[in-house]
Amino acid sequence: MSELDGLKLLRLIEEGVAGKTGEAFFRQIVCDLSRALHAHGAFTSRLLPNRRARMLAFWVGGQYETCLEYALEGTPCEYVYRGEITAYARNVGEVFPVDRAWFEQLGVQSYLGIPVKDETGAVYGHLAVMDTCERDWADADIDVLRLFSLRSAAEIERARYQRELEDANAALRQVNERLGAEIASRAQAESELAAAKAVAESANRAKSVFISQMSHELRTPLNGVLGFAQLLKRGQGDSPERLREGLDIIERSGEHLLNLVNDLLDLAKIEAGKLELSPSQVDLRELLEHVTSLARVRAAKVGVTLMMILEAQDFVPVMADERILRQVLLNLLGNAVKFTEAGGRVTLRASGHSTPMGRQAVTFVVEDTGIGIDESELQRIFEPFHRLASPDRVVEGTGLGLTITQRLVDALAGRLSVTSRKGVGSTFTVECELDAAPQRQGAAFAAADIEGYEGLMRIVLVADDDRDNRALVTQLLQSLGFLVQAAGNGQEALERLNTIRPDLVLTDLVMPILDGQQLLRSIRADGKLARVPVVAMSASASAVTRAEALQAGCAAFLPKPLKLTDMLQIIGDQLGLKWRYRAAPARNTHDDDAAPALRDFRLPPDLAAELQHLAMQGDILALTARVDAALANDTAARPFCRELRALAARYDVRGIRQILVASGG
Ligand code: ADP
Repeated sequence: MSELDGLKLLRLIEEGVAGKTGEAFFRQIVCDLSRALHAHGAFTSRLLPNRRARMLAFWVGGQYETCLEYALEGTPCEYVYRGEITAYARNVGEVFPVDRAWFEQLGVQSYLGIPVKDETGAVYGHLAVMDTCERDWADADIDVLRLFSLRSAAEIERARYQRELEDANAALRQVNERLGAEIASRAQAESELAAAKAVAESANRAKSVFISQMSHELRTPLNGVLGFAQLLKRGQGDSPERLREGLDIIERSGEHLLNLVNDLLDLAKIEAGKLELSPSQVDLRELLEHVTSLARVRAAKVGVTLMMILEAQDFVPVMADERILRQVLLNLLGNAVKFTEAGGRVTLRASGHSTPMGRQAVTFVVEDTGIGIDESELQRIFEPFHRLASPDRVVEGTGLGLTITQRLVDALAGRLSVTSRKGVGSTFTVECELDAAPQRQGAAFAAADIEGYEGLMRIVLVADDDRDNRALVTQLLQSLGFLVQAAGNGQEALERLNTIRPDLVLTDLVMPILDGQQLLRSIRADGKLARVPVVAMSASASAVTRAEALQAGCAAFLPKPLKLTDMLQIIGDQLGLKWRYRAAPARNTHDDDAAPALRDFRLPPDLAAELQHLAMQGDILALTARVDAALANDTAARPFCRELRALAARYDVRGIRQILVASGG
């Protein structure tokens, strides 16, 4: 074939396969090859492992046929795959008996095959033409075949490059994706780190600010105390008025310091995570009435009306830490009264409903018509020591109340929010979800109104190494008509048990010499005493202590500080008592029946000062004993005594100080 013919043929081949790749390319090649050589058919195949081949395209008798896969052995193709051009002019079926039937079926006589090699010279596949006539294949035929073979090799190379390119692209894409993911996760880690750092820095800053504010707040009243003490010491000849004024300032500063220290201790306890919740059954109505009556005393003193509105018909008894709920409500009510002018109004609203999960969603709203808070200050009032200056009035306070309240609400997993308008009033809202209390048998239990029980006198043995607690429980039970024997440890209790047979034993768990658990074991081991119920008391109110005590055989568990309601409920249940109640005035949501008596009551100044002193020292027993001695026969003092006893039973020193202040102490 001349060079020109070769070029022409090449152009023809190119025109045929233009834009075709893969299968379409090879189909075009076999068709064009067959036509170029005026042959009956042509096919191209690819070498497979194990000396097999597979057709890529097969053109015969003017049409495409199904591609076959076949073993090379004993076929003319086998020679081609050795890398040689193989030509048979006639009787190809005779020469290769393996393929005879196939050649005969096609009517093929002659065969010309050429290997297709890749760029390394390795045989990749082959091209073959076949004819039905005897045909002595000319050099020109072989040239044509060679051109087709070269073109096929080029396509194979191109396909390989394309595959490699696609593989490389896919790998690149994967690497890119990995890189992208790594960058994203690093960016996230960095932003988390930055956020944590910002939080740590701001906590650090807040701590420093807090410490410097605290030292300022503590020093200010201390300066007052020390300064006036020195002045008084030097100026012995001063007038009695000056003396009195100086002492007043020292007293006020001391009281302010005491409040500060109490608040700081509360806050420190909460911040140190020591605020262990001790949930017990709470009657919300009773709690709300109690805090309202306490706050009302103070409100009445400054001419503010205080109302309680229960927006729920009946509150389901809930399980909650009553001490925390009470402190939250008292703090908010205290503020509302403090920041409301005479003639104004404070309202405590409460509502509740059951949630789909069977809990109680409770909302308390403390609303006042007071001085209000500027919008810009609303969030800052929850910060420690943040108090808003008001030029026209000086209001006592530490600036820690709302900080503590906020932390307490957090501990209840609740939400505290505020809305306010300057000059119009403020609304503080507490929302929380509480567990409903397990249903108890019988009617509502009003412990504060119990004055005794029906039937024979019962004997209770009280074992507690804490002298004050022992005396408190003893006095309480004695006042209800029990015969009480007291013991300072388990050993003493066992000695008492030699002479008396109590109906019930109330024992502290941690005691010297013989502890509560050992006492319980000895009681259980004694046949005569085995049926006596033993109730455990412990300052460790954790669920573990409770479970251990019950497992060891205690009939019930009472966390300290003891709650009168719980204690009497348990004693009543264990002894099957029928309580006798004091004739109590009917309770009404809006009424003021109980409150005016409490509100109108004024302590004699000397007694007030004495009681305030005992409260400051935390000597609750001496305080209740003093109140009993001084006011036992004073009917006007009854609500006051009842309130004080209830607070004493809970060791609620803060509450006691509040009621003393409200009653003139
Ligand atoms: P304290 O009352 O001891 O100063 P708090 O933390 O309870 O401290 O309150 C911080 C400040 O928030 C108060 O000093 C007062 O300026 C403002 N505040 C709190 N409650 C009210 C209210 N009901 N009405 C107006 N201002 C209030």
